[in-house]
Parts: sequence; C-alpha cells; structure tokens
Amino acid sequence: MSEYEFTCPDCGQQIDVNTPVREATLSHGCPVCGASVSQEHFSRQ
Ligand SMILES: [Zn+2]
Repeated sequence: MSEYEFTCPDCGQQIDVNTPVREATLSHGCPVCGASVSQEHFSRQ
C-alpha cells in the first residue's frame, strides 16, 4: 500500500508512492518529467 501521494510541481502528475520510491524521486526527480522535487511535494496518505 502506498504511503505518500506525490504531486509534481512542474507537470502536475499525482502518483501514489511508498518510501523507497519517495526517496528515489527526491534524489532523481519526477519520474514523469524529471523536475527536481522536495519533501513539500509529498503528502501522507
Ligand atoms: Zn513532473
């Protein structure tokens, strides 16, 4: 089950993510558009 909801500040994509994917997204950027993101773009489910 996903723990967080990610909302991209650039492309607006919303993705349900778990902790490993959250960490990867923080490191590598939005999986859709590659925009750099920070913790504020994740909300707890
Ligand atoms: Zn994006």
